[in-house]
Amino acid sequence: GLGADWARDWLLRTAAVIAEHRTELLALDRAIGDGDHGENLDRGFQAVASKLDGAEGTPADLFKLAATTLISTVGGASGPLLGTALLKGSVAVQGREELDSDALVALLTAARDGLVSRGKAEPGDKTMVDAWSPAAIAAGEAATAGASPAEVLAAAAEAAEGGAAATEPLVARKGRASYLGERSAGHRDPGAQSSALILRAAARAAG
Ligand code: ADP
Ligand code: MG
Ligand code: MG
Repeated sequence: GLGADWARDWLLRTAAVIAEHRTELLALDRAIGDGDHGENLDRGFQAVASKLDGAEGTPADLFKLAATTLISTVGGASGPLLGTALLKGSVAVQGREELDSDALVALLTAARDGLVSRGKAEPGDKTMVDAWSPAAIAAGEAATAGASPAEVLAAAAEAAEGGAAATEPLVARKGRASYLGERSAGHRDPGAQSSALILRAAARAAG
């Protein structure tokens, strides 16, 4: 199973990959939002990386720390949304030292459900739900087929990337991009793109 070393590595890799893609995420949000998504998440995950320095505990403890940090440091919509996802994911794997394939499915499913209950977006509304929802479904299918934890996360990351790409033709029905109506079509949703990066980081951390 994947333990606290994996959870820490996931969050640190996320901070690195978000910093690396900051400009790209800013440009995506400039097209259909207010142009701050890369800055919001970079600030949030750099704060998470600092908090992790010296932090101990189970994967759930580290996710909870990351969640509360994102909620308190990210001004935009994405902070409370991702924070709630991580917080609900943390509760789903509470007390476990190591996460097997089924626990990873529970983590991703609870994260997706937390996001949906907080933001009220459905798949197809052109939001980060369009990355998390296919990821949770693909993880569940992989685990049912007997996939290892690393394979479950690889399946989730691939589905999230496909989901993010599939937001391009969609018309936004939630968040700032929805103010643009039909003009939001033809651009990838920034939150779906950053969520795909986050889930790819989870898979890379699992080797
Ligand atoms: P803000 O829109 O407040 O500036 P960000 O730019 O950081 O916040 O995040 C925008 C992203 O948040 C969008 O691209 C979208 O993926 C996501 N988002 C916005 N509203 C919702 C919602 N209600 N449910 C799910 N995701 C949402
Ligand atoms: Mg924004
Ligand atoms: Mg904003």
